[in-house]
Amino acid sequence: MRIDILTVVPELLGDPLNYSIIKRAKDKGLVEIYIHDIREYGKGNYRQVDDYSYGGDAGMVLTIEPIHKLMDELKAQREYDEIIYMSPDGQLLDQPLANHLSCKTNIMILCGHYKGIDHRIREHLITREISIGNYVLSGGELAAAIVCDSIIRLIPGALSDETSALSDCFQDNLLSPPVYTRPAEYNGWKVPEVLLSGNPKLISRWQEEQAWERTRLLRPELIEGMEGEDK
Ligand code: SAH
Repeated sequence: MRIDILTVVPELLGDPLNYSIIKRAKDKGLVEIYIHDIREYGKGNYRQVDDYSYGGDAGMVLTIEPIHKLMDELKAQREYDEIIYMSPDGQLLDQPLANHLSCKTNIMILCGHYKGIDHRIREHLITREISIGNYVLSGGELAAAIVCDSIIRLIPGALSDETSALSDCFQDNLLSPPVYTRPAEYNGWKVPEVLLSGNPKLISRWQEEQAWERTRLLRPELIEGMEGEDK
């Protein structure tokens, strides 16, 4: 998979995508991430990429031309499955959307900044808009890093234990059961007995029960109408 990220603040994106599972996925050749500075396509000596908004609202707006030029250059080199704009009014990122995107070959992600981007970019050049939650960030960069993280860890081979992505929260609409590691007792706090039993059947039944119980308790809306069907 190849991901191209378009931004006016490339510095915000280096570090979050250079460690841990994402770094390993890059080293294994499972994903290539390219960060493009929109400013390099900006106008004049000052490499201008923004301008005042029509209508006089406070805040600068990213202009069409530099983004269009950069996109055209990239699109001339390969076909993109998705050209995504990060936006607080986009489709909310969730596990099914991450699953969907993790199967793609080439993805472009455009990060807005300041007051946003000229709306004509969204109308004519974007195939999907994604929000990471109902709040407003200063720029799309951290949101784009979150999208990347959520999809890269799903690429087969990215996690050392491949089944572990399947047992994460939300993969089956259930929250994860709690996990424990050594020591079996710390400060008088004990690991649930069943996990020490060595009986895989009992353990997986306990984990399933816990997943249902935690979901019922913490996020009942995830399983509305599902109970009785699967259980
Ligand atoms: N004026 C815009 C907000 C601009 S915030 C509005 O009210 O909709 C600047 C940039 O940050 C946006 O262009 C977008 O790319 C990014 N951004 C802000 N909040 C976001 C969120 N919740 N999810 C994804 N991107 C977001």
